[in-house]
Amino acid sequence: MIGINENFLKLRAGYLFPEIGRRVRTFKQEHPDAKVISMGIGDVTQPLAPAVLEAMHRAVDEMGRPETFRGYDDSGVGYEFLRRAIVENDFAARGVSIELDEVFVSDGTKCDTGNMQEIFGIDNVVAVADPVYPVYVDTNVMAGRARGEGILPSNRGQDARDTKEQGQDALATSRGQYAGIVYMPATAENGFVPAPPDRPVDMIYLCFPNNPTGAVATKEALARWVEYARVQKAVIFFDAAYEAFITDPAIPHSIYEVEGAREVAIEFRSGSKTAGFTGVRCAYSIVPKQLKAYTRDGRAVEVNPIWRRRHTTKFNGVSYITQRGAEAVYSPEGKKQVQQTIDLYMANASLIRDALTKLGYTVYGGTNAPYIWVRTPKGVGSWEFFDLLLNKANVVCTPGAGFGPSGEGYVRLTAFGLPQNVREALERLAKL
Ligand SMILES: *Cc1c(COP(=O)(O)O)cnc(C)c1O
Repeated sequence: MIGINENFLKLRAGYLFPEIGRRVRTFKQEHPDAKVISMGIGDVTQPLAPAVLEAMHRAVDEMGRPETFRGYDDSGVGYEFLRRAIVENDFAARGVSIELDEVFVSDGTKCDTGNMQEIFGIDNVVAVADPVYPVYVDTNVMAGRARGEGILPSNRGQDARDTKEQGQDALATSRGQYAGIVYMPATAENGFVPAPPDRPVDMIYLCFPNNPTGAVATKEALARWVEYARVQKAVIFFDAAYEAFITDPAIPHSIYEVEGAREVAIEFRSGSKTAGFTGVRCAYSIVPKQLKAYTRDGRAVEVNPIWRRRHTTKFNGVSYITQRGAEAVYSPEGKKQVQQTIDLYMANASLIRDALTKLGYTVYGGTNAPYIWVRTPKGVGSWEFFDLLLNKANVVCTPGAGFGPSGEGYVRLTAFGLPQNVREALERLAKL
């Protein structure tokens, strides 16, 4: 009899985006003439930079000639031309020293943040922010690091559940959270940057600039996390997918700008939002050679060769054409063109922030991130406000509660729309 991996049965159905889709479809059926504007999706809208297109066209032609054709990338971790461009432009230019064999090119940060947990122990305690990008949580549930209802805890070798723990499990379940995962509230009070927890955790997921809140972490805030991880011998998974949207020169783009981070942090970067690569697919992870994890009997082992083994066993590399496109993002023309697109999105963000502030809303984010986190009017819940915007302004937002209980009372607006749509949506909101 074929058994199923029961960890997958603990997953809650993906609820947020299907539910938004359902409500929007219903509205459109009832109002076929309404022009609905989406400020909800986290996908880009501007086309690829011309420098990227030219590089990819050249690479396609190379693939069509026997002298320049390329098959497998033998390294399996990305062509040296791309890893060199990454090391020089994303790190050396900011005073951070990263070596070529610490870069692992992949087809996305979703996969990288989802896969990285695989090489770490199953008994590790996972900490995430609330609200959170669901990939970090769901992939750990699939791996067996969360308790479902009625399932014995595996954490820390306990073999019986005490009543306190059962109570906590019931509470987590009632909030739509998983027992066994540590959720760190990101609230207006802490500037949406949670402090390290007062208990030991082992695997910490941080995302700055943040999706969904648009918050960024100062160097001091990241330094506290690095210090915590060093003391606890924990690892930080630092998702920097929105790094390119930082405008404040004091905000670090990489966690390695903090001293000591190379010993405790893995960083993820993606071309998706930076260069409009959501449909092209190219990203990378940095796994420093100083990073260590521990066997059950306390022996330190290097993480970099283990990730190399994992990555090259299960993945055969990003296409040559894509890697040439990614390399072109770092060319002088590429940099200029990509920056123009980011400036366009950030001009949208600033329009949204200004308009909503004038209308009396409290807004966060949108200055170093493409997301604006809007407080709903007093007494109006996330979903209630979503329905109001849809019905009265025909504007789609994302209810904050869908990212976690601390997102209740907020909606997320994105700056990825076309500028004329953003302006029209804001005019409609002004007439509410
Ligand atoms: C969009 C996004 C990514 C990018 O994922 P890709 O798989 O590289 O497209 C990563 N992390 C967060 C939080 C995101 O919102």
